[in-house]
Amino acid sequence: MLRVQDLHKRYGEVTALDGVTLTAAPGRMLGFLGPNGAGKTTTMRAVFGLVRLDAGEVRWRDREVTSDVRLRFGYMPEQRGLYARMPVGRQLRYLAELHGMDADDAGRATQRWLTELGLADRIDARLSDLSHGNQQRVQLAASLVHDPELLVLDEPFSGLDPLGVQAMSEVLRERAAAGATVVFSSHQLELVEELCDDVVIIAHGRDQIAGTLDEVRAAADYRRVEVRLADNRPVTP
Ligand code: ATP
Repeated sequence: MLRVQDLHKRYGEVTALDGVTLTAAPGRMLGFLGPNGAGKTTTMRAVFGLVRLDAGEVRWRDREVTSDVRLRFGYMPEQRGLYARMPVGRQLRYLAELHGMDADDAGRATQRWLTELGLADRIDARLSDLSHGNQQRVQLAASLVHDPELLVLDEPFSGLDPLGVQAMSEVLRERAAAGATVVFSSHQLELVEELCDDVVIIAHGRDQIAGTLDEVRAAADYRRVEVRLADNRPVTP
């Protein structure tokens, strides 16, 4: 279980997080919704220790999240983090080894994920030579190659065509079915409704509505949120 408890973060005058709280459970998918600037990226980065919080706590399986614990996490950042000019296979193997796999296992995991994502024949291609959709698939493979228990993806569907959305959806479903805890952020309510077991909607750095998909759908404010998300205007608490 991932527990994010009452996170606070200010950047100068800007309050990025003002008490975000959420939990995500193994074998389930959590959709993390909110308009631009709501605090989704800051929350996700905080899970990976990439934000110096003013207050709040992140725990995994009732433990403090240390760098050792983070080796079992996978993260697909919004600003995708791979090298444009390095062959994709080499990058994936390197990442797998950084997460503690030996060279043979890292090679096998690289093959497995590139094959599952339809990119086996691109193992020696440079990332920059791939289409946007295929680059996104490689970024997904990079977050999965070490078989993480917790998978956190920042807007993984952005810019994908329908086939890319389908491929991404299938992989996330399969990972959750295999027992991983899956969290992804999005502006797209329909995708979250289609895929997620649980939903957290935040605005102004605070969670507004949280629960199972059915509970959130039943919330009095839900339709209002839908309209605001579609407009991408902040949801007023
Ligand atoms: P988007 O959907 O646009 O990615 P978001 O929900 O992920 O938005 P965040 O990126 O977490 O939102 O940003 C929350 C707020 O904190 C915004 O007002 C943003 O401008 C501000 N912010 C985030 N990172 C920084 C930073 N490094 N320095 C200053 N302000 C920041």
